[in-house]
Amino acid sequence: MTEKLRVLLLEDRDVDADLIRIELKRAGFQADVTRVITEAEFRAALEPGYDLILSDYALPQFSGLAALAILQESGLDLPFILVSGTIGEEAAVEAMQTGASDYLIKDRLGRLGNSIRQTLEKKRLQDENRIFTDTLRLRNRAIEASLNAVIITDARHPDHAIEYVNPAFERITGYAARDVIGRNCRFLQGNDRNQAPLQQVRAALRHHQEGKAVLRNYRKDGSVFWNDLLIAPVRNDQREVTHFVGIVNDITEIINYQQQLERQANYDGLTGLANRNLLHDRMRQGIAYAQRRSRQLALLFIDLDNFKLVNDSLGHEAGDRLLREAGLRLKDQMREDDTVARLGGDEFVVALFDIEDDEVVLNAMQRIIAEMTRPFSIGGRDLYVTCSIGVSLYPKDGEDGITLLRNADTAMYRAKEQGRNGFHFYTSDMNDRAVERLLLETRLRSALERNEFSLAYQPVIDLQTGKICSMEALARWNNPVDGEVPPARFIPIAEETGLILPIGDWVLNTACAQVKAWLDAGLPAVRVAVNLSARQFNRERLVQSITRALANSGLDPGLLELELTESLLMQNADTVVETLRTLKAMGIGLSIDDFGTGYSSLSYLRQFPVDRLKIDRSFVQDIDKDSGSALIVNAVTSLGRSLELKVVAEGVETAEQMHFVRERGCHESQGFLFCRPLTAADMGALLKKGIDAKALTAA
Ligand code: C2E
Ligand code: CA
Ligand code: CA
Repeated sequence: MTEKLRVLLLEDRDVDADLIRIELKRAGFQADVTRVITEAEFRAALEPGYDLILSDYALPQFSGLAALAILQESGLDLPFILVSGTIGEEAAVEAMQTGASDYLIKDRLGRLGNSIRQTLEKKRLQDENRIFTDTLRLRNRAIEASLNAVIITDARHPDHAIEYVNPAFERITGYAARDVIGRNCRFLQGNDRNQAPLQQVRAALRHHQEGKAVLRNYRKDGSVFWNDLLIAPVRNDQREVTHFVGIVNDITEIINYQQQLERQANYDGLTGLANRNLLHDRMRQGIAYAQRRSRQLALLFIDLDNFKLVNDSLGHEAGDRLLREAGLRLKDQMREDDTVARLGGDEFVVALFDIEDDEVVLNAMQRIIAEMTRPFSIGGRDLYVTCSIGVSLYPKDGEDGITLLRNADTAMYRAKEQGRNGFHFYTSDMNDRAVERLLLETRLRSALERNEFSLAYQPVIDLQTGKICSMEALARWNNPVDGEVPPARFIPIAEETGLILPIGDWVLNTACAQVKAWLDAGLPAVRVAVNLSARQFNRERLVQSITRALANSGLDPGLLELELTESLLMQNADTVVETLRTLKAMGIGLSIDDFGTGYSSLSYLRQFPVDRLKIDRSFVQDIDKDSGSALIVNAVTSLGRSLELKVVAEGVETAEQMHFVRERGCHESQGFLFCRPLTAADMGALLKKGIDAKALTAA
């Protein structure tokens, strides 16, 4: 059996070189020998492919020790054996100390084989050892750097004492290594020692097996964390279990996330109330129960009346706080067994289960309305938010949750139509009304081409002079099926469908053209006010529409005024200011309509370049009944005056109201007392004749 060997031989004498070759063969090596003599040759030949270097000690211009130095410099890790005829003991020791693997006297060349074998074996062990230490170091590092906590316990210790924990363990649990070494791991469970998954851990320890469990563990500060634990036995060469390794994966975030997902599936994130999902679940159960026992069930659909206004004028944060507070109040009013849910937006649903008579429902509604009417204190203000409630009953109004919900919703709309802050029971003819609305929408779509619109004009009276100072253009829709449809019915549909854009353009064009026609006919110049919806308030489009209406008619921009609602202005107060400035720069008048119904911020109001405030009709009409309304008229008038705006009182129907508003300082007034909205022809006639309300305004 021969061993292959690649040898680099540094030897100047041919005889010695031959002797070495022979000895190698004799010792059983199949050696591939490369022989070099000079330093240059040695340097050139040096490469990692050799198994070893044999070098003469003394050379003519070079030496074995110099060769050894060159080898070390090169960084190659090759065994180096010195062979010499003359080497003394001291030189030999020096050679070994500087790193030679062995040395041989030429006379005793017979030892060469053994020397080589020992040298190679030593090298192999060294290599192995290095690999082993490297690997160990690497694994140690990995454990130290691991994100998972690692615990090593002594399996032969009676209490499985901890021998080692890594830094991640310290980070996750808050315990320092020195606090826990020598202890049993059970302190991680705190007092929570009855968790079912602990059985798996105990069994694995007992049977010397791997085990897995998700445990509730406690950090040093007492806070809980979820531990996805893996334990595995470690055996020695005799297959005895000496240790257990525990890998702790902190999955608290994952568990929290799962719990949150579950909550999200069933609960409303903002208010913590049940969501639509859970509501339907509860209704299914409730209906099944009511069916077995022949009981009733009521669904109250609740919508906050002024929510959008709050959201638009005070911002979403205030809106959110209002919703949370409203949710709390609802919850407080209900029995534990009832379900209070939020469907989104400002829509809440209360499901009352197992009710004996309508009395219970009526009581619940009265409580809700009373609760919602109490002011909400948000951001330092008292907000008044009424609500409208629609009610449907099982089994009368529907056999399943979806139908009941839809019908309660319909009833809620009915309550809203009837003036808000009230409730309405579902009746089967309500669906007919929903269908009717749909038909109205269809007819509205073709109303423009069929020329079904017209404008009515209502004069505005100067309270000092008693003369007409302007007029408001009001849209009228007359169609063959419905006859006169009041704007309060079709304007909201037009806004929802976007039809308000072409309709609004038509109103602008018609009003401008009409006033110009009156001027051309020699009638006095009277300003016309046109109402704008929020949908129309897109700067570019709006400016374009107005420019076109003015150009088409040839009307002086000073004779046009736009009426904007408070909520429109507050929606995007910043961009609105710019648009208003643009319009103002065109010479157009601006007024704020229905003032007092929104929550205008005074600081914004100052920035709006408006000319007029129109006090909402509802306040004027309640002046005599309600001291609150009188206060508002007072406040708005003095506010308007302090901002140097003209104040207009809308909806003046009686002489008392007129006197009241004039005494408080309102400049102008509009209302049935002076004149109802007129057709264009009648308005033309009135302009010609001139109105003289002196008699009215005098007293
Ligand atoms: P508004 O802008 O507040 O218009 C004044 C409303 O008050 C008119 O109702 C008018 O007829 C009514 N009114 C005037 N004086 C009195 C009074 O003494 N007593 C009572 N009870 N009412 C009075 P109308 O014409 O039914 O319009 C209702 C609303 O429809 C308007 O309220 C306005 O918001 C909207 N609207 C009307 N035309 C247009 C339009 O061309 N575009 C837009 N976007 N909205 C319009
Ligand atoms: Ca108006
Ligand atoms: Ca108004």
